[in-house]
Amino acid sequence: MADQPNRVALITGGSRGIGLGIAETMAGSGFALAINGVRAATETAAAINGLRERGAVAEYFQGDVSVSADRQSLVNTVRGRFGRLDVLVNNAGVAPSPRADILDANEQSFDRLIGINLKGPYFLTQLVARWMIEQRKSNPEFHGVIVNISSVSATEASINRGDYCISKAGIAMATQLWAHRLAEHGIGVYEVRPGIIHTDMSAEVAEKYDKLIAGGLTVENRWGEPADVGRAVAMLARGDLTYATGNVLNIDGGLTLRRL
Ligand code: NAP
Repeated sequence: MADQPNRVALITGGSRGIGLGIAETMAGSGFALAINGVRAATETAAAINGLRERGAVAEYFQGDVSVSADRQSLVNTVRGRFGRLDVLVNNAGVAPSPRADILDANEQSFDRLIGINLKGPYFLTQLVARWMIEQRKSNPEFHGVIVNISSVSATEASINRGDYCISKAGIAMATQLWAHRLAEHGIGVYEVRPGIIHTDMSAEVAEKYDKLIAGGLTVENRWGEPADVGRAVAMLARGDLTYATGNVLNIDGGLTLRRL
């Protein structure tokens, strides 16, 4: 299904977990894929080959989104390789290390997490937005899309990972800011809020979430899968949701639905 034949998407953290679920779904929509992560290319080869087997042009670009020089080099390299960028998916993220009560949590974990989960996507968006504006000026048909992967933690407080919650609440505001700023340039900016999704990140607390889901935490009684998030992002990337910049999509099986 090659309905986006010339469009290029950059997905941070795209070689495993939710990012890979997004990449696989977008491969099915015909996007060429620039996949970023911190692991060495040799460790991501199987994932990249899997995307190619789905018919996508896919390349891996190593770089740490929390480091300014890495972000600049990532954008330069993608530009050199593809010459255009239509979609940015800010997906890379980490959990606190360690998870700790906010009365005990340390500044090192806070700085690392905020650097990766909030500062990184905020300034990567700035770089990509400038390039998208350039593309729009030379081609009025150009429509950029930026998707931020936040979390239900943008609104649901977890006192053993305050830094994580703050980073996701920050991403929610960043989405609104960039949506306001970039609308005049035809660039849509959206936030996708996953709930509890099966990945390496959630593996260490899988038993806890198994019990919570069995006890009715979510309205749809199952774990989320990376493909659930992938379908939402691919819809936004294709431009299927129109006149809706700044919107939030909750992909959480109803976890955040209010009940009485
Ligand atoms: P994951 O399985 O741990 O994968 C994280 C990805 O982020 C990896 O690809 C990793 O790269 C990349 N990454 C980490 N630090 C990076 C850095 N400094 N620079 C560039 N890439 C970096 O996590 P996930 O569960 O798929 O989470 C993806 C996103 O969804 C995160 O933003 C997370 O907060 C959010 N989320 C997850 C859940 C959940 O239940 N899993 C729920 C809500 C929101 P490498 O592969 O190279 O290590």
